Amino acid sequence: MPASGPAGAPELTFWGVRGSRPVPGPDMLLYGGNTACIEVRLPEGRYVVDAGTGIVNLGRRTLWPDDEPIHLLMTHLHHDHVTGLPFFGPVHHKGREIHVWCGNLGGASAEAALLALLAPPLFPLTLEQMPARFIFHGFHAGETLRIGPDRIRTVALDHPSGATGYRFDTSAGSAAIITDIEHRSGVQDPAVVALCEGVSTLVYDMMFDEAEYGASRGWGHSTAEAAVRLADAAGARQLVGFHHSPNHTDAIMRGREARLVASRPGSRMAREGMSLLCANQHDG
Ligand SMILES: [Zn+2]
Ligand SMILES: [Zn+2]
Repeated sequence: MPASGPAGAPELTFWGVRGSRPVPGPDMLLYGGNTACIEVRLPEGRYVVDAGTGIVNLGRRTLWPDDEPIHLLMTHLHHDHVTGLPFFGPVHHKGREIHVWCGNLGGASAEAALLALLAPPLFPLTLEQMPARFIFHGFHAGETLRIGPDRIRTVALDHPSGATGYRFDTSAGSAAIITDIEHRSGVQDPAVVALCEGVSTLVYDMMFDEAEYGASRGWGHSTAEAAVRLADAAGARQLVGFHHSPNHTDAIMRGREARLVASRPGSRMAREGMSLLCANQHDG
């Protein structure tokens, strides 16, 4: 049975934190260059949010018992969230069950899109030729997913073609993952605030600075300033920046993180390889 934190709070591990495209290179080492992938450990279940290039290291560096089905919760299917999937080790294990959940396609599953993406001439293998057994689940963002003993709440996000936010709760803590969202100017989306209400850890799309956002309106991403407003409105305890711009080097990210901490103490920018226990309260 997968372990979560010592107190049974959700534990997040960030395997990829970047948006848009992977950015390897010497000036991206501190925060990391792989695209979106977050592992979520609960007392009795393990989930993977998104299959960006970060999922490759998740497959290489963690043990997956043969009989453990993998639940992949997709925020949506843009390239930075799916391109790691064919290189995720468990998809090459014969008989491995991989459940793919997708909530932004009006109830349709991710199957048709992934069949189109993973097929010649774009990729040498089709999804059907991979040894793992894929099981696709389409739902409407806003529904609550019931997977084993877990109840995972979801919310629709404002993003081109839509996206899904997720919330994981245990008796000891909670985590919300809200990425690929464009905030509304001047008002909060009440459904997003409700999903994040009182959450221990809020992971949020902070791709742009305010100045960059002005030139990137309509691209479906948000800012640290909007994140702070949402965290305050929802009473979130800890705020974590995610979906970093591929243009933000470590030097830029350090400055952004310092400004974030100054405006909301206890916040941080996600770094690749970082694990966080999402507990109700600090231990001291
Ligand atoms: Zn993205
Ligand atoms: Zn996107």
